Amino acid sequence: MSIAQEIKSRLDIVDVISEYVDLKKSGRNYAGFCPFHANSRTPAFYVSPERQSWHCFGACAEGGDVFSFLMKKEGWDFREALEEMAQRTGVEIPAYKPKSAAQQSAENKLTVLMTAAADYYHKLFLTAPQASYARDYLERREVTAETITAFQLGYALNSWDACRNYFEEQGYTRDDLLAVGLLTFNEEKDSTYDRFRNRLMFPIRNIDRQIVGFGARTLEPDGVPKYLNSPQTALFDKSNILYGLDAAKRNIRDAGQAIIVEGYMDVIRAHQAGYQNVIAQMGTALTETQLNLLKRYTKRFVIALDADAAGVNATMRSLEVARETLDRDFEVRFDARGLVRNEGRLKADIRIATMPEGKDPDDIIRHDATQWPVLIGKAKPVVEYVIDVVTADVDRNDAKAKSDAAKRVIPLIKDIADAVERDHWLQRLAEALQVDVQALRTYAARGIGKRPPAPKRNRERPSSTLSRNVKAPLAVDKLEAHFLREVIAWPNMLAQVDSHLRHTRQPAVGRDDFTATEDQTLFRYLAHYANTVGDSAAMLTTLYAEMDDYLVGRVQGLLALPHTDDAQLEQLPQRLTTSVLSWRLDKIKRQLDEVKQMMGADHDPAHLETCQMLSMMVQSIHQAKHKLSVQGQRTT
Ligand SMILES: [Zn+2]
Repeated sequence: MSIAQEIKSRLDIVDVISEYVDLKKSGRNYAGFCPFHANSRTPAFYVSPERQSWHCFGACAEGGDVFSFLMKKEGWDFREALEEMAQRTGVEIPAYKPKSAAQQSAENKLTVLMTAAADYYHKLFLTAPQASYARDYLERREVTAETITAFQLGYALNSWDACRNYFEEQGYTRDDLLAVGLLTFNEEKDSTYDRFRNRLMFPIRNIDRQIVGFGARTLEPDGVPKYLNSPQTALFDKSNILYGLDAAKRNIRDAGQAIIVEGYMDVIRAHQAGYQNVIAQMGTALTETQLNLLKRYTKRFVIALDADAAGVNATMRSLEVARETLDRDFEVRFDARGLVRNEGRLKADIRIATMPEGKDPDDIIRHDATQWPVLIGKAKPVVEYVIDVVTADVDRNDAKAKSDAAKRVIPLIKDIADAVERDHWLQRLAEALQVDVQALRTYAARGIGKRPPAPKRNRERPSSTLSRNVKAPLAVDKLEAHFLREVIAWPNMLAQVDSHLRHTRQPAVGRDDFTATEDQTLFRYLAHYANTVGDSAAMLTTLYAEMDDYLVGRVQGLLALPHTDDAQLEQLPQRLTTSVLSWRLDKIKRQLDEVKQMMGADHDPAHLETCQMLSMMVQSIHQAKHKLSVQGQRTT
């Protein structure tokens, strides 16, 4: 329990507010004249002992918990309200100990170890007799000494314990070596062994140039796997690292373009040839975190991938991520961050360059470096590329295949904001499929395929059931807590949720969406950093460094809750948006209940207006939820 929660558990909001307001029991609640706006006719101020909250249905139209009441009434900030009430309830506010100190020093130790490991492998590469094959290999591939130094390429001995022995002599423990993934644990034999053996080592740095992992290429002709990466560790998460970004970031900014390739050797080759805005994803599809990292430097991306089938599939995956993250994110940053609205929509430009059959960027540049800019210059806009790939093998006599192809491409076209551009691509698709463009226009305007009838649960409920539909007070608090938990885990989700909300004509998530004052305060921090921190670890580091220490307990409490893993990430924005709408609905229905009660008691016509307004809000949230669920069906 956080300090604020502890304090709340020891006092009753009705007692506290009664010291300021004359409250009378009214049904389940207490009512009185609002202390925040001039009024003497109708008691429009309500206190709910059940929810430990207050609300003014009059001019203020706001509410909150005991802390927000005291802050408003006494002019305190949250800290003061907390201290005041802590004293009154005998709750001790513990002094904040920078809890990450131990963790920090542990992480520092691991970073130092990784730096030492890179030096160790590099030195072996340069001097060890056993590394002669590795040296020959790079020489044959025309990798220069300067490049080997710049990328600190290394060699891992063909041994099961050379690395372990070396670092144990240096005073590192087996646990240290396991923690950074230099050793692998064999459960059956209860023993450890060197992870990298007889491999060419590529140290992987994060954006701050710290070595966080290794990529390792086998030097045996049939070695499996060909490339072996460090496992996921406290330092290394391949979904949020781009190989070469530390070296490329300035060039990316200067060139106004980032080129994303598949392999370590592609990056090294490009940099050696002077094309230094090239980076690699780490064997997976491009992740949102990676794109968020990149967009600090440019909004123009070229994804250069091999032409083989795997390459095409990988490209398709990358596309989906890029489209999701960038469009939504930029759009929202615009809106939420108050960037200049008149400047036109800030959009990323993502293009796809395909390599000639059977060649990778490494081959191409080595063979003729001048070909590289030519190929990159021929990169196609994403939509064009998708149309070409999707329609390439479609039999123009097969109606079903043509329809399937249209279904794959049209959602992408529908995402384009500009109507002229949209129509351009529809025509292009029509030509590729040899169908009438009008058919595609109708298709796009109507949505894809048969629209299923609205499910029953989404139809408007008769309003008489609204008043009986009061859930346990905890339900809403839980939704709010889970929401905060997910934003801590996936900071960039917030922008996507806001985008969904805007598309359904609902306000973005704001601090008022949260019931507890401490959650409102926490949310302010989260919203402030959500677009600038890359991932959960960065978010937590920032929070612990920046936020007021009394929030630490709340954050730690939230961290105990489960969060979505990356496998389910795709549905998360939609799920969170639905959650926000649900709790808003729940709160408004509850307020509606309260106003109806008041109306029964005093028959004040002012309540009728409030009632109507709240009913309209209920309607509009129902509509938004419906729209969202239709969208969800369309995208799945
Ligand atoms: Zn008021």
